[in-house]
Amino acid sequence: MTPRGAAAPIAPEPPGSGPVATADDAISFPAWERELTSTGTCSHPIRVHGRIDAIDLATGETAPVFKTWTEITIPQTGDTVRIGEPVHVPCGNRRETACPSCSQVYKRDARQLVRAGLTGGKGVPESVATHPCVFATLTAPSFGPVHSRRVRGKTVLPCRPRRDGKDRRCPHGRDISCPTRHVEADPRLGRPLCCDCYDYQAAVLFNRHAGDLWRRFTTYLPRHLARLAGITGKQLRAELRIRFVKVAEYQARGVVHYHAVIRLDANAKTGYYPPPARYSAALLADAIALAAKAVRLDAPTGRGPRIRLGFGRQVDARPIWRDPVAASGQPLDAGAVANYIAKYATKSTSVPGLPAARIRHPGDIAALRCPAHHKRMVTSAWDLGARDATADPRLRLWSHMLGYGGHFLTKSRRYSVTFGQLRRARAEHRRLERYPDGERDPWGRPLDERVVLVLAHWTYAGTGYRPRTPAAELALVSADMARGD
Ligand SMILES: [Zn+2]
Ligand SMILES: [Zn+2]
Ligand SMILES: [Zn+2]
Repeated sequence: MTPRGAAAPIAPEPPGSGPVATADDAISFPAWERELTSTGTCSHPIRVHGRIDAIDLATGETAPVFKTWTEITIPQTGDTVRIGEPVHVPCGNRRETACPSCSQVYKRDARQLVRAGLTGGKGVPESVATHPCVFATLTAPSFGPVHSRRVRGKTVLPCRPRRDGKDRRCPHGRDISCPTRHVEADPRLGRPLCCDCYDYQAAVLFNRHAGDLWRRFTTYLPRHLARLAGITGKQLRAELRIRFVKVAEYQARGVVHYHAVIRLDANAKTGYYPPPARYSAALLADAIALAAKAVRLDAPTGRGPRIRLGFGRQVDARPIWRDPVAASGQPLDAGAVANYIAKYATKSTSVPGLPAARIRHPGDIAALRCPAHHKRMVTSAWDLGARDATADPRLRLWSHMLGYGGHFLTKSRRYSVTFGQLRRARAEHRRLERYPDGERDPWGRPLDERVVLVLAHWTYAGTGYRPRTPAAELALVSADMARGD
């Protein structure tokens, strides 16, 4: 394995028996080594043993740059033994529940990435703020009545009022009315009023095919936009590019929905230019609503008939204003949108008790400590994935995610910057801070990759901190603080 940063900045090995690396030993570290172990306060860092060597390409001479161990010869036996501490590499997990610290880094990057596409920065010109841009929410349809919090203005309305006695009962004889004005934290929210009326198969299949539905939506959107603008698809393609960033979020009922920032750019090979004036944000919002309503997908169930999937009737598509003055009114403010998207980029399912690991056996489902509703979704996904049902392996693979196996944040290639670019810029910034006069190779020359080859060899030594190190204590404290954020 090659941990991030391993092949990056180098410095000569200090004289003596060679450094023994520990995450706590910050003073005797060569600076590049500190970068490698800058785990922040990662909860589950990877421990690796290894070495870095520099090879002079002209002479073939090899010089050690770093190793994680020291060799000691035992005088009595003449045996050579290796002692030393492995270095810690951050886990890089994006999920808040898995690693609060690493997910914070990812969240920050997500916010910058979304923001750069809205108001510019990170290499994107500020003029991008003048392009038509819409914040859209694409939700699943109803799979059966669930407890919900309905709000009109500042008034919370009753969940499901039923005046008529015969409307109160479902075919299973259950009372499916609910006069409660639910508070936001009510655990009943999203739970079906009758489990037998609720279409679990369709709910799980929606999660399974949410990505396919989105892809169809992005195919239909230019067609609807062209029709509304009164031009041909060919003409639209010649002058326009549709760019987006989207996040998936679980609703309380355990079904994902998408929040997306969708922006119109002029068709250009490089750079970001506003599209022709006929494409307004209002036109884009209309086209989004039409395209979302047109999406259909007939999902196989194996034993039964196919289930027709689509997005819900309610499509929320609102123009985003990047001008702070305009944003004081009704439309959405760019900063708020960026924060919102970043929040969901790191949140996976917020359902307590849902497993972080995959379900490998039906017995794993029985052992789950989660709401009955979610357990039923996991079971439906598992059953639908059976060989004599759909035989779709993804349904079983992602049954612990209620059928959803997609990414939580995706974007079109040229929406703004990439996560990789943000990471590289961060590494470069740290390097400049540490080596204001430039890095040097083991022979004392300015580092030049055309002159020396830097080779890193790493082996896995375990996961997590060694118990009771100061770094481990710090990580525990920081994880608590990050959760409170
Ligand atoms: Zn981590
Ligand atoms: Zn209710
Ligand atoms: Zn029922």
